[in-house]
Amino acid sequence: MKKKVIAYLSAISISILMNPVSSTAAELSERDKKYIQVPFRAWNEIINYKIPSDNKVQIQIHASKNFDEKAKLLFAKGVQSSVDQFAGVFNPGDTIHLILATNYDDAIKFTDEVIAELPEYAEYKTRHLNVAKNNFISQVSSFAGGTSSRGCLYPGSQLGDKGGSQLTTCPELKGGAIYWFGSQPPNLEIVESIGNHEAMHLVFSNLNKMNHYRVPDWIIEGTIHSISLAKVTKNGNLTNNPSLLQPAPKWVPLEDKKQFDLSKLDNQNSGDESFSIGTLAITLLFSEFGAKKVFDFMSVVGFPRQWKDVFLESFGYSAEDFYKKFADYHAWYFYENGFNKIQGTYSSKTISCIKGKTTKKVSGTNPKCPKGYKVKA
Ligand SMILES: [Zn+2]
Repeated sequence: MKKKVIAYLSAISISILMNPVSSTAAELSERDKKYIQVPFRAWNEIINYKIPSDNKVQIQIHASKNFDEKAKLLFAKGVQSSVDQFAGVFNPGDTIHLILATNYDDAIKFTDEVIAELPEYAEYKTRHLNVAKNNFISQVSSFAGGTSSRGCLYPGSQLGDKGGSQLTTCPELKGGAIYWFGSQPPNLEIVESIGNHEAMHLVFSNLNKMNHYRVPDWIIEGTIHSISLAKVTKNGNLTNNPSLLQPAPKWVPLEDKKQFDLSKLDNQNSGDESFSIGTLAITLLFSEFGAKKVFDFMSVVGFPRQWKDVFLESFGYSAEDFYKKFADYHAWYFYENGFNKIQGTYSSKTISCIKGKTTKKVSGTNPKCPKGYKVKA
C-alpha cells in the first residue's frame, strides 16, 4: 500500500465544529432534502450489496505474543466481515494472512511464514519489511497497515507501477496478506473498520487487479473507505466516528468559500483528503447509482485505459460533470450547514422504552424498543 493507515486515523479524530441546528421538515429546502438522503442511501446500498459464494475464505493470523488481544479480534472481525460479504471474488482454498507484528524480528518471521504458504508473496516482502523498518527501527511512524493489493514496489523491484507506458502488476496471490506493524494499537473503536478497509483492498484487487493502477486515490481509497465506514455505522450512533455519516471531518477550509475542486486530487496519492473527501465523493456516487454500478465500474476501471473514459461509460456523465456535482454537495455539506442538517433531521430521535421498572432510551433514525419493552407514552 502506498500510504500509512495513520493517514486516515488522524483524519477521523477531528470533528467539525459548527453551530448545531435543529431542523424541522418545514425549514428544509428541496436541495436539503435531496442531499440529506445521500449518506443514508449510500449506507443502505453498501450494506445490502453482496457478491456471495459458498466458499468460506480462510483467515490465518500471525501475531506477536504481546499484540493487543482485543485489537486482534476486532481487526480479524473486520477482515472476515468484508471477505464474507464479497466471498465470490475469491477462489476456493484462498487464505488471507494477517501479519500483526509489534517488532521488527516478528515482522521478518511472519513474512517468511506467509511466503511458505503463498510463495508469490516473496515479491511483496521487501516493500512490506521496509514499512516495518520505518516503524520499528527508524520510528518514522507508530502504526501502519497495508495489503498485498499493489504494494510490491521498492527501489530495484521488477514489478509494480513505476509510471511510464508499461506496467507489470504485482503478483496475484491465492488469497492475500494484510499487515499491521505497530507497537501500540490505535483507538480500538476504529480497529474493526481498519480491518474492513484493508480487506476491501484485497476484494477489489481480486475483482480486477488493474483498478489499483492509474486510478486516483480519491476513487480507490474513497470507495474502500466508504464501504469500511458503512459496515461499522450503527443505527443508534450515526454521527460518532467511525460512521459513514461522519466521513470527512478532516478538511482544508476553502478561501472565500471557493468551490471545492475535486480534480486537484486526481494526481494526489497521499494525504488525508483522498480518504475523507474521497469518501464524501464516492458516497454521492453510491447514493445516485447504487452499489452494483460502483462495483461494475471498479471491475473494469484501471490500466491501460484512462479512468475518465471508463467513468463516462459507467455513469453516463463525465468526470468534469461529476466534479461540478460534487462541488455543490461539498459546499452544502461544509458551508451551508448540511452536515448539521443531516444530524438534526435523522439522529436526534430518542424514545423511552419500558419493561416493568426498567426504562431504556433508544436513539436512531427509526428507533425501536428491544424485545420485551414497550414504548413509554
Ligand atoms: Zn487503503
